[in-house]
Amino acid sequence: MGQREIAERMLEVWKRLASAEFDLLCCAAELDDPHEIALLLRIPLGRARRLQEQAAAMDRLPVLARLMRDGLLDLDRFEAVRKLTENLDEEKARQVDARLTGAAELNSRELRVEVGRLVCLVDPLGAEIRHVRAVKRSEVRYKPMPDGMAELTAYLDAVRARQVFDQITADAEALDDDRSRGEKQADVFVDRMLGSDRPVTVRTDVTVSARTLLGLTTDPGYIAGVGYVDASLAREIAAQGDWRKVLTDKVGMPIGVGRKRYRPPKALRDFVMVRDRVCQAPGCLRPVAECEIDHARGFASGGSTDERNLGPFCDVHHYLKTIGQYRFRRDADGTRRWTTPLGFEYETRPRAIAEPDPP
Ligand SMILES: [Zn+2]
Repeated sequence: MGQREIAERMLEVWKRLASAEFDLLCCAAELDDPHEIALLLRIPLGRARRLQEQAAAMDRLPVLARLMRDGLLDLDRFEAVRKLTENLDEEKARQVDARLTGAAELNSRELRVEVGRLVCLVDPLGAEIRHVRAVKRSEVRYKPMPDGMAELTAYLDAVRARQVFDQITADAEALDDDRSRGEKQADVFVDRMLGSDRPVTVRTDVTVSARTLLGLTTDPGYIAGVGYVDASLAREIAAQGDWRKVLTDKVGMPIGVGRKRYRPPKALRDFVMVRDRVCQAPGCLRPVAECEIDHARGFASGGSTDERNLGPFCDVHHYLKTIGQYRFRRDADGTRRWTTPLGFEYETRPRAIAEPDPP
């Protein structure tokens, strides 16, 4: 059997598994006692209880349940959405679900980002309240480890955490010696904590619609490397000096990058980075800051340097494209098509940041 046939067979098995998982949940929904399930399936009680919770969530998430039944969505992805929507009331959960008809096209990480956006959108006040509550649970933990080491973990505001992480990484990359990346990061972290006078150099984009900024809507904002945040947090961050603000137009696509830059290609690069936000390969969420801006149609073969021909690729996907095993092209309407060596084709499109304006 050739690679292509095996790949097709694998996809078939995967679909059967997903629909079998749906059948499993249907049974779990009918059984009352989680202990019974745990014994029957030789699974821990916690896992049995989770199966029942997942089964119960099928009523709140009917669109996703149908995708699972049809073999298009596996239980992992269903569970990701269930977790992210568990604090919503039934009506709001159904609103999120109703907008996830395309969930089968997303991998679990992309789906989490998208559901994060929808939760902010259908329940902006709730998102804000939950965030405020969660911030109160912030903490830093110390855990001794073998060999004279310890783990220091911080549970904190995602935006702050991202800034800290980006700064540590940037400082570490500026060090030119042969220590490992991790070792440099750890040293930089200690330096920063215990005193050194490195200036803050990283800058992050917050993308927010003009209407949200003006307080006219509660559309979520988007923070590079973090994902969607509720409107009030987006406004608060956009008001701070060390963030670059990005505004969007009627359909939620960027219109400018907040600073007066007229001269391409820098302005063009900025535009592309803000529009795409992540690597343009399907399923990849590497932030643009870690990507190269690439010509879909090579400059040498007549590809132009304009926004329709440019997009970000992370080093992995750039490599796969460059060695010619994976083919990539862009249609006039901005759709990107990624063709694998086995001949499967995947589409991606830049995602709008905000909701389109009501007509
Ligand atoms: Zn990538």
